[in-house]
Amino acid sequence: MAHNQEARSKKRVLCSYGVDLDAVSIWANTSNGAVTNPTDVSRGIGATVGVDRLLSLFDRNKIRATWFIPAHTLESFPKQVAKIRDSGHEMYTHSKTGKYSTMLTLPSSGLHGYTHERVGDLTAVQERDVFDKSIKTLTSFTGKKPKSWTAPSWKTSLRTVELLGENGIEYDHSFMHHDSQMYYLPYTPSVTETNLQRSATDWMKPMSTIRPSSIVEIPANWHLDDWPALNVGPGGSGFVDPDVLERLWKSQFDFYYREYDTFVFPITIHPQVSGKPHAMLMHERLISYINEHEGVEWCIMKDIATEFRRFPGHVVDGGVDS
Ligand SMILES: [Zn+2]
Repeated sequence: MAHNQEARSKKRVLCSYGVDLDAVSIWANTSNGAVTNPTDVSRGIGATVGVDRLLSLFDRNKIRATWFIPAHTLESFPKQVAKIRDSGHEMYTHSKTGKYSTMLTLPSSGLHGYTHERVGDLTAVQERDVFDKSIKTLTSFTGKKPKSWTAPSWKTSLRTVELLGENGIEYDHSFMHHDSQMYYLPYTPSVTETNLQRSATDWMKPMSTIRPSSIVEIPANWHLDDWPALNVGPGGSGFVDPDVLERLWKSQFDFYYREYDTFVFPITIHPQVSGKPHAMLMHERLISYINEHEGVEWCIMKDIATEFRRFPGHVVDGGVDS
C-alpha cells in the first residue's frame, strides 16, 4: 500500500471483505445447552462449499479477504481453514487503469469466539476463557498471534475494549460509531439504563465522556452485511431479492464516494449465506461496479488499520464529565 501525501489528495477508497466463517459454531451456540437442530449443523455450505466458492470469487477478482474464524470452526474444519491460510500471500491493488501491483503480506485472520459466543451474555471468567482459547487455537494454526477481533453477532460487553487491549488486539471490527471512517475505538462510556422500578431521577444522567483506546476501529455496519437480508433463520429475513441488497450496497458506496475523498467500505459476509448462487452473482456484479471507480483498492483489514495509524482521521466525540 505504497502511497504518499500526493496520493492522499486524490480519491482513496479502501474496500474489504470480512468473512465470518461461523459454520457450525453459530448453530452450536444455543446458549442454554439446548440440543441444536441437526439440519442447521448440516449447513456444510458454511465451511465447505461456501468457502470454496468465495475463495474462487476472491481469486478471480484478485481480492484478499480478512477471515474471522471461530475456534470451533478451525478445530472442526481444519482442511478448509488450511485452504484459506494457504490461499496466497499476495495483496492485489486495483486501479481504473487495470494495472495491478502486488506486495507480499501474510494471511489475515482474526478472532470470532469459540462457538460464536455473544460476549455480553458471558461472565467475566467465561469471556476471558473464550478469548484465551481462541487466541491459542488460531496462533497454533497460523503461527502468528491474531491481532484482530470481530464480536460474534456484533454484541459486546462492558469489558470488551479493555480485554482487547490486554490481549494485544490492534484493530477491531465490532462497533458502529461511524459507518465509513476509521477511528480509535473508545473505551465503553458509562450509560445509566432506564429502570422503571426506580425513581426517574436515578436514570436521568448523561453518558460519560468518550475516551479513545489505542485500538483502530474498522466500523461494523449491519447495512453492509449479508446476514440480515439473506440468511434463513435467526437474525435474517432470508428471502430478500439480491437485487435489493445490491442497490442498498451500491447506494451506500455512491453516497460515500460523493461525500468523502477517503473512506472505508468494509463488507461483511458469511460463506453459508453469500456462498449461495444468487448471492455469488450479486457479489460479482458489485465488485465490477466498485472497480469502475477511480481510487478503489481492495485490502485486508490489517493494512487498512495500518494506514489509519499513519494518517489518522475521524475522532469520536461525545459524553460529558460527571
Ligand atoms: Zn459471526
